[in-house]
Amino acid sequence: MATIDSATAWEAIRKPKEFTTVKPNLVDYQRERARFDWKVIEDALERLPKGKGLNIAHEAVDRHAASHKANHLALRWLGKQGEVKDFSYADLKTETSRFANLLKGLGIAKGDRVFALLGRIPELYIAALGSLKNASVFCPLFSAFGPEPIKQRINIGDGKVLVTTPRLFKRKVAGILTELPTLEHILLIGDAAEVAEFKEAKDFHALMARADTEFEIPATDPEDMALLHFTSGTTGKPKGAIHVHKAVMQHYMTGKYALDMHEGDVFWCTADPGWVTGTSYGIIAPLLQGISSIIDEADFDADRWYGIIQDQQVNIWYTAPTAVRMLMKVGKSVAKTYDLSSLRFIASVGEPLNPEAVVWGNETFGMPIHDNWWQTETGGIMIANFRSMEVRPGSMGKPLPGIEASIVRRHEDGTVEEISQPNVEGELVLKPGWPSMFRGYLHEEERYKKAFKGGWYLSGDLARRDAEGYFWFIGRADDVIKSAGHLIGPFEVESALIEHPAVAEAGVIGIPDETAGELVKAFVTLNAGYEPNDNLLLELIAHGRKRLGPAVAPKQIAFRDKLPLTRSGKIMRRLLKARELGLPEGDISTLEVSE
Ligand code: ATP
Ligand code: MG
Repeated sequence: MATIDSATAWEAIRKPKEFTTVKPNLVDYQRERARFDWKVIEDALERLPKGKGLNIAHEAVDRHAASHKANHLALRWLGKQGEVKDFSYADLKTETSRFANLLKGLGIAKGDRVFALLGRIPELYIAALGSLKNASVFCPLFSAFGPEPIKQRINIGDGKVLVTTPRLFKRKVAGILTELPTLEHILLIGDAAEVAEFKEAKDFHALMARADTEFEIPATDPEDMALLHFTSGTTGKPKGAIHVHKAVMQHYMTGKYALDMHEGDVFWCTADPGWVTGTSYGIIAPLLQGISSIIDEADFDADRWYGIIQDQQVNIWYTAPTAVRMLMKVGKSVAKTYDLSSLRFIASVGEPLNPEAVVWGNETFGMPIHDNWWQTETGGIMIANFRSMEVRPGSMGKPLPGIEASIVRRHEDGTVEEISQPNVEGELVLKPGWPSMFRGYLHEEERYKKAFKGGWYLSGDLARRDAEGYFWFIGRADDVIKSAGHLIGPFEVESALIEHPAVAEAGVIGIPDETAGELVKAFVTLNAGYEPNDNLLLELIAHGRKRLGPAVAPKQIAFRDKLPLTRSGKIMRRLLKARELGLPEGDISTLEVSE
């Protein structure tokens, strides 16, 4: 595992914290784990009146709107041009009821799929929660997707409704409309005149204005399908993971324990709802706790982001390693010009969080960035660094209460064996049965079945567990490099490289080699003020050898202006590899491309 240069920096993080202001929700990890009972979580939720079941939108919106929370700020939307729109819980109830009635009026019923192709505008959040209210299934699409990935997903999902804008419709959907046979209604959000140009579509706002503001949520079984989320497509063709209303229990529990949400908090999740984090935590989890959630329409910009934390008095900030690395690239001094003292907890997900980034967070914000691990398939956070816990930079933390995680070895005959010794690498697995576990890959029954073996859900990620129960990410099973008898995780090599002051981002792959099997090759982008040249190349090679030893260090390093990232900010190592070896690029529907 990559180490950090400065022992003092490490110590600063490991030092037990004193909680003088807000006491963490989870104080004693072992005790909470031992006494944890899902029943208690279930009881903390209200459920639908008259025994009609469990519906995410009721728990997130309606029950607060009927309480003293009615006028409390639920969502604050920050527009690209500086506009601000506030929604109280009562406002959100009205708007989502309108949308549910709108759907009902169109004959859209329980289980029907409602797709949204929208940027982060308020209507996206209203459509998501309104669809859930109607017991329909909400399926978000990244607004930056091109026609092909849109077609692929709507067809896999049997989409009946598409909510989008005239601009996105014209550019991305109009040309493929005849290839979307299941689509019955297109709802466009825009000026009446603009919308009227499209005869095949309906005017979202006009229908909303006519829709009733009262809506009775139909009976919803906890096992009814609620969300269809496509995976990030980092390792191949995206899969459509099915999630049910019962997932709300996980969203509630993790909001409390993993993200430490408290009454009165302001929470900001920077993820786009096109990715599961942006829905589970960018929409649902904060509303379940009755707190205020910030939505920023704009894309990443360091000054804008620090400005939001300062001006909106953000207490809990949930972001991603790519964003953290971009902030690191801009430099600590920019952060120091803002008052970020409202922050109480920072968490990150989606990719391994380099130890360097954890230390940087501590120096910049006065608290480490808390890494946590989960997947589209798990529906919610599974492993986390809790606020009350000693953070070990580079580790994903420990399993949430109610979650059993382990490490297994897969045998040739397909069986799996649990590894109980500490620090042995193997596949990260989870004991099935947590509420937000995916219930299938839509139309891919076999693939779903294959994800379970020997009583475990197999995550496809490799990790190890240390003697104190912390989990350490090694790499995706597909990305791991086998070189001269060593099993090398790209993360370890990437983390070591970005410790060098010149390196902003690193992506590491294995390339075929006759003697070693595979050779470690790194692609790096540079921080401002550094030029790619032979001297720097030699320096980075030497740095790698010093940090990692000759067996693990990259033998080749190439400079790049940018690395291929998914729209959700993950390095696409398989694409680096395909391009390096001149192989087919495979599914690149989620690749980030500048528009
Ligand atoms: P696909 O399954 O289509 O290849 P994906 O796995 O990237 O895409 P997601 O479900 O969005 O799609 O991402 C989950 C994966 O992201 C995890 O399996 C893991 O590889 C990675 N990941 C998430 N959080 C962390 C973390 N804290 N540390 C390391 N890796 C993480
Ligand atoms: Mg995956």
